[in-house]
Amino acid sequence: MKLGVCIPYRDNGDGVRKGHLDKLIPHLEKFLGEQGIDFTCYVGHQNDDGKFHRSGTKNIAYLEAKKDGCDYFAFHDVDMLPHDDCDYSHPGDTPKHIATYLSQWGYTLRDTEYFGGVVIFTGEQFENINGYNTDYVGWGMEDDDLYWRCVEKGYFVQPTFQEIKQKMVLSLDGKSTHIKINPSRELRRIPTDSFRIDIICKPEIPEHEPEHLIGKGNNRYYKYPILSKIGYDFGIDYNNSNAFATSMWDWKNNHIYRWRRRYQNNWTKVSLIHDKDKQTISFQINDEDLDEKFGIQQSTIQYKERLKRYGNNPFWLGCNDPKAWEGQRFFKGEIAEVKMWNQYDDLILHYDMTKSICCDQGCRRCKGDIVKDLSEFGNHGLIENRNIRFLYDKEVIKYNPEPHRRYGTMECMYHDDEGIVNNQFQGDVEQTTKNEILYRKKMQKGEVNIDTSGLNSMKYEIDSVDTIYNRHKLINVRF
Ligand code: UDP
Ligand code: MN
Repeated sequence: MKLGVCIPYRDNGDGVRKGHLDKLIPHLEKFLGEQGIDFTCYVGHQNDDGKFHRSGTKNIAYLEAKKDGCDYFAFHDVDMLPHDDCDYSHPGDTPKHIATYLSQWGYTLRDTEYFGGVVIFTGEQFENINGYNTDYVGWGMEDDDLYWRCVEKGYFVQPTFQEIKQKMVLSLDGKSTHIKINPSRELRRIPTDSFRIDIICKPEIPEHEPEHLIGKGNNRYYKYPILSKIGYDFGIDYNNSNAFATSMWDWKNNHIYRWRRRYQNNWTKVSLIHDKDKQTISFQINDEDLDEKFGIQQSTIQYKERLKRYGNNPFWLGCNDPKAWEGQRFFKGEIAEVKMWNQYDDLILHYDMTKSICCDQGCRRCKGDIVKDLSEFGNHGLIENRNIRFLYDKEVIKYNPEPHRRYGTMECMYHDDEGIVNNQFQGDVEQTTKNEILYRKKMQKGEVNIDTSGLNSMKYEIDSVDTIYNRHKLINVRF
């Protein structure tokens, strides 16, 4: 089996990328040589002064490697040096992400969707997703796009976490539907005592409110409450940036904030767990614990000071206190179940929408406005503007899709950062903004035809193919 290492490359005159290439090739010869892996590097060298065409150079390198009869392909940034625990020896039955634990991120995974640095494909897999989309130029997102192509083509199918057991769920209209819970003594101990809250819900972003993007002119940020107490002080919400978040404060007014990635319109189990003895707060999505040190998606954090008390104030499901201020946002979507436990693991609130809402219309008994607490603690809710949906088919909660990985550590060689610093694009902001819109608003919304954009629709001209370092190839290409 022969490996083609496909490297996107252009030195911009300062010698930095050239320096990387001069280190990478001998490094790979030693690293792969010791493992007896037969390989050739194909350096896709952009030979023009236009914006850098990373996807194009990788596709070109692939075509040349294929022509030479390579059996599988590693798409490989020039600045990544694999350590011995990396495995390039074979492709997988699905595409594999290899550059997982990078020195740049303290040898932890940057985030769960990261699919850059080094990835390995068979030719069949790469052509099935039609290679890289070459509409991305300049910095960024062609690797996210590659990941999404793999998702779309069914390589990273999400396993099912659990079925929705309810036959009836509450629909919230995003305008006025909500539940008010006047807390019993037991419920008032949340959040200061240890507790656990589980909510099974399916949130949506209202049509007229755009997604939050990082790029220029698209960065309006909205959040929508799931559960709250006193305005935004304590609660769980979701936002127009594909995340769930939770927020609370300690008595010295330090904000304790946490977020986790999750695309909207998915049934999701959201859990907030406080352990008073260990002074930890966990925020879990579908029971998953994450500990990315450098990403901000880690689940559990330690806090220092006592948490703030909120006493007698009601809990609100699907809104903040509607009288607190004008023009606030409501939850839009569906809720199937809410559960809360106290420090002794007693279930102190339990709404199962099939059983907690006594009938469809609101009879004499429930008057249409009671959500019955199925626990023994009497934390019934008062519902405003209810609307019920019956689930006929089996609906399920799925995990987030994630790239398939082969874990290993890598050294990143230094270069100036072009990407995102302090949540803002650097360098060619206009172009990166375009890339982000293409990925988030077109690709992820299913509006890009993978089969007609990519490897089979590139415009390019190859000037020459040179041999470098005795046995590797430099493909000089213009776009
Ligand atoms: N690259 C290059 N010349 C450039 C920019 C990028 O050769 O001017 C190639 C190089 O292989 C590099 C890869 O594209 O490793 C990824 O770019 P970069 O390292 O800037 O991305 P990041 O470190 O932000 O992931
Ligand atoms: Mn880099």
